[in-house]
Amino acid sequence: MTDSLRVTVWNEYRHEKSDAEVAEVYADGIHEAIARHLRSEGMQVRTATLDEPEHGLTEDVLAQTDVLTWWGHMAHGDVEDEIVDRVHQRVLAGMGLIVLHSAHFSKIFKKLMGATCNLKWREADEKERLWVVEPGHPIAEGLNGYFEIPQAETYGERFDIPAPDTLVFVSWFQGGEVFRSGCCYQRGKGKIFYFRPGHETYPIYYQPEVLRVITNAVRWAAPVAGPEVKFGNVPEPLES
Ligand code: ZN
Repeated sequence: MTDSLRVTVWNEYRHEKSDAEVAEVYADGIHEAIARHLRSEGMQVRTATLDEPEHGLTEDVLAQTDVLTWWGHMAHGDVEDEIVDRVHQRVLAGMGLIVLHSAHFSKIFKKLMGATCNLKWREADEKERLWVVEPGHPIAEGLNGYFEIPQAETYGERFDIPAPDTLVFVSWFQGGEVFRSGCCYQRGKGKIFYFRPGHETYPIYYQPEVLRVITNAVRWAAPVAGPEVKFGNVPEPLES
């Protein structure tokens, strides 16, 4: 299948360079694992990382991006506010945004949510089972009723987010926690999907179901050619 979707896969790309255990799992970086798969789906994919000028997210790059995916963890504070505002404006204007795993604490997600986006967590190699709770949703296309990640970082409720417009996945963890792990939002003309899986020490971004969800989410979040929005005073009524 080919389509003309233009995707930018953004990655903080620090763990892979500083931690041998992570480099062993993601030799080319988390961004390449995701980008490679989206390219194989026929999308036009570029990557961008934190340490590039303007974090790789110039006005030009964003103008040519239909959907942006975001992975960050240890350096959320290093993302310049000016770039966050730029991404925010693009989302409101219609660019899709896929927020992955620890990016729940990214500046851009917190700004879009207007909440702390805090949660409980534990690193204990626990099994995660993701239940599809909205089976007719485009992001669930091609999945079974649930899928499992053999070893994952545990996240637990409460996840301090606004109630999602649509909740597609609920995770259960071996240790007993549950978590809203696939959350859809709309802000302005832009669609946002938060997807929980993806800790840097596990090969989660090679797992077919996870890649399927990210692919489906990118397609779902793509902008639509809706009417131009006009605000403000409208002195002439349509009917007289
Ligand atoms: Zn993690």
